[in-house]
Amino acid sequence: MTFEVRDPASGEVLARLPLGTREDIGTAVEAAEAALPEWSARTMRERGRVLERAAALVRARVGQLARQLTAEQGKPLREATDEIRGTANVLEYYSGISANAADEFHRLSGGIDAFVLCRPIGVTGAIIPWNMPALIFGWKVGAALLAGNTLVLKPASGAPLTPLSLAQILGEAGLPAGALNLVTGAGEEVGEALVLEPRIRKISFTGSLETGRRIYSLAAQEIKRVTLELGGSDPMIICADADFNRAISGAVAHRFYNCGQVCTSVKRLFVHESIAPALEARLENAVTALQMGRGTDPGVRIGPMNSHSGRTRVACLVDEAVEREEGRVLCGGQVPRSNKFAAGNFYEPTLIMDVVPGSRLLREEVFGPVLPVTSFTDMDQAIALANDSPYGLGASVWTSDPRTARDAIERLQAGIVWVNHHTKVPPEVPFGGVKQSGLGRENGLQAIQAWSESKSILINKGIESL
Ligand code: NAD
Repeated sequence: MTFEVRDPASGEVLARLPLGTREDIGTAVEAAEAALPEWSARTMRERGRVLERAAALVRARVGQLARQLTAEQGKPLREATDEIRGTANVLEYYSGISANAADEFHRLSGGIDAFVLCRPIGVTGAIIPWNMPALIFGWKVGAALLAGNTLVLKPASGAPLTPLSLAQILGEAGLPAGALNLVTGAGEEVGEALVLEPRIRKISFTGSLETGRRIYSLAAQEIKRVTLELGGSDPMIICADADFNRAISGAVAHRFYNCGQVCTSVKRLFVHESIAPALEARLENAVTALQMGRGTDPGVRIGPMNSHSGRTRVACLVDEAVEREEGRVLCGGQVPRSNKFAAGNFYEPTLIMDVVPGSRLLREEVFGPVLPVTSFTDMDQAIALANDSPYGLGASVWTSDPRTARDAIERLQAGIVWVNHHTKVPPEVPFGGVKQSGLGRENGLQAIQAWSESKSILINKGIESL
């Protein structure tokens, strides 16, 4: 059995891939088990060299990989190119951690030396989404392999081709057969089989809150290690003293990038009431100027959404808010009428002003090109609005006053806080959410720890010398 991978801009079938089964997961796990002794016995430096070579190959093929990513995912070619370059950066970053950086040494009283060693977990699993399929592949595969694990990965059916190409590149770079295995197919079948497979000792999942809940409960049966990188509803707060131009272009760039389908997109905009009227006019101009079209067309800033069902969900949330008079649509708010867009999953970039607290536009994760805007009177209210969400992934504050920034950094409930920018996620810096945005962190040394078991060794030097 197979499934079709379609271009979300045109509906054209790009490929047919195997609809994997539970048995395929079993076969992949056997391959990963067989590859484990040799791969885990290599030094970190040796493993890092494979990632280094893979990064160079990714860089050499940026154009080809970016076109593939745009074709299956829908994002503008410029953004796809950024993502592929970002993936090479991540692999390079991990290739540079060649010492056993996360190990610890303590000289204790009583002549005792203690070593805390990071050791591979063993055969591990990863499940990734379609929105940033190359970058998230890099985050998980780079850290998991460097830490000495072997891996079975399930890509999302909305964008599986780029991960398959990246896996092939790792093979060309010298990764031994079986160290990384991809199984395509439905989440309910192969995803769940991966989580339930007893020989897999850790699952790293990136995706929606609903799927994260399901995976967390399934993983409990085997007390499996889990990392959950789930949804977000990031607030952006623009204070009265913010650099106005920078804040507007930041809000537009970080809400509409990837057609609003980023976990850390600006999903709620809170603006000080004194600047709200001026901001409204400028935002409207900036958003209506965004060119919509196929990701490969020059100058396009808004591609199609990845799936028809994703677009339907976003359209329903907007329609409901309009019906309930929870906000005022300034632009967009509908599926484009032009025939030019009829075959794709397009949705007009949308601005909704004066959205009332309690609206689902603010309570839920709106994963598409819709920006709800609400004004506030003082910072206490802004922080309360920002924190009024089950999610806690990212948040940003835009101000020229360092005291306001410091105060917001402390009070915002988020795993990552940006000041005067949003969304940047460099590989050196741990990334992940608080509250229902997930468990654990990716990136940085914390990712190496998350892909390792720690083993504590205590050596009594007195006994040793006997
Ligand atoms: P999704 O949860 O629908 O799917 C993610 C992956 O899980 C896919 O590979 C899917 O096939 C698989 N899956 C689905 N059901 C499963 C099940 N029952 N068992 C095991 N696997 C299953 O999410 P999506 O729509 O692909 O991605 C969008 C979501 O991902 C958004 O909520 C977004 O915020 C989130 N996201 C989070 C981060 C982060 O780092 N926190 C990054 C990117 C995306």
